[in-house]
Amino acid sequence: MNILLLGSGGREHALAWKLAHSPSCAMLYAAPGNPGTASLADSVALDAADHKAVAAFCHENHIDLVVVGPEAPLVAGLADDLRAEGIAVFGPGKAAAQLEGSKGFTKDLCKRAGIPTARYERATSLEAAWGALKHFDPPFVLKADGLAAGKGVVIAQTRDEAQEALSQMFDGRFGSAGSEVVIEEFMEGEEASFFALTDGETILPFGTAQDHKRVGEGDTGPNTGGMGAYSPAPVLTQDLLDQAMREIVVPTVRTLGEERMPYVGVLYAGLMLTSEGPKLVEYNIRFGDPECQVLMMRFQGDLAKLLHACATGSLAQAEPVRFVDETALTVVMAAQGYPGTPRKGVAISLGSAEDGGAKVFHAGTSRGDDGVLVSSGGRVLNVTALGSNVTQAQAAAYEAVDAIDFPDGFCRRDIGWREVERETA
Ligand code: ATP
Repeated sequence: MNILLLGSGGREHALAWKLAHSPSCAMLYAAPGNPGTASLADSVALDAADHKAVAAFCHENHIDLVVVGPEAPLVAGLADDLRAEGIAVFGPGKAAAQLEGSKGFTKDLCKRAGIPTARYERATSLEAAWGALKHFDPPFVLKADGLAAGKGVVIAQTRDEAQEALSQMFDGRFGSAGSEVVIEEFMEGEEASFFALTDGETILPFGTAQDHKRVGEGDTGPNTGGMGAYSPAPVLTQDLLDQAMREIVVPTVRTLGEERMPYVGVLYAGLMLTSEGPKLVEYNIRFGDPECQVLMMRFQGDLAKLLHACATGSLAQAEPVRFVDETALTVVMAAQGYPGTPRKGVAISLGSAEDGGAKVFHAGTSRGDDGVLVSSGGRVLNVTALGSNVTQAQAAAYEAVDAIDFPDGFCRRDIGWREVERETA
């Protein structure tokens, strides 16, 4: 089949790698792609915001499947517009995409479906938000309702801090994402991610992961898009997974289906493992970045066929999902300045990084006119390796990191620390 993959990050390089090596993939296009996808797919200059142009490209090139990497085009309704033209899409339509596009939507859905999550209130004005604060104890969890690139959540330790943060939210600190806020009860526990593929009816578990959001070692410093991840997450035991599937993922997909908002694609559940069991922190409507890189490192089989089965309502007939029985760990190499303004245009050489079996997925890279690889974004490379456990995978990933010549880059040296501590205890 002919496939169009939308996106340009490390997640899309990992997807392109598995799609290009799928026996059922005849032709792969990446729009816009990056220097990593360029050796696997034809790069196309398509703007995902221009739905008509994407549809026209699909018709001209006999595209059988569109795989949408990032959330923004899905929240904007790209999948609906392509489906209306008879094109199969891996990714939810606009209505179901509200699971990520509106935190209030997800919390209301949880309430309707009886899904375990933090108690919450929604507020559309500063007065209402300050009033709602009275119903919660510190620490206060305050969330801008809409998409805010992972930066729309404030955890305030005191009531004064919470009031100040709410004022800023309603003052437009997060643009239109902050015109409504959700105030939540704070949940104690360890966080882990659970992925499921669905065509709206059949739901298949698709692995687990844990990531590191903070820029600094020991999980300190400002939040980022993610500095590293590993899969599977041993903390999510089979019992907890079964419970999360039964109490969270299945009722979500069923409720959306009953309410005529069928969910198609990957459902990424951010879970808090509390003393009362797993509770939903948030949903994402696409693969995580860098969680996708570790899932793809472990995935075995024909990814193109599996995603096509999701997109065409035939997941019940798909082959069982298979992952290699090893741990994958990815280390993000970022540019100086990240998560603030990153320094760009610095030359990178991958050297022998991939010689031992590691994979280096490109994120913020580009090729200069002379063909030299240079940094062009905040998160630049995702260095990914397999091992028999997190400790082994971590050692292999850092060996590959050390083979890379990127003098301006930095990475955390402790990705996977929690699990490494447990493994060595
Ligand atoms: P991201 O895209 O970075 O995952 P987001 O902006 O979509 O984040 P959430 O995932 O809802 O927002 O929240 C970000 C982080 O804040 C969570 O990963 C978690 O660490 C913390 N958090 C959110 N809600 C709660 C809660 N109710 N209790 C405790 N911590 C929370």
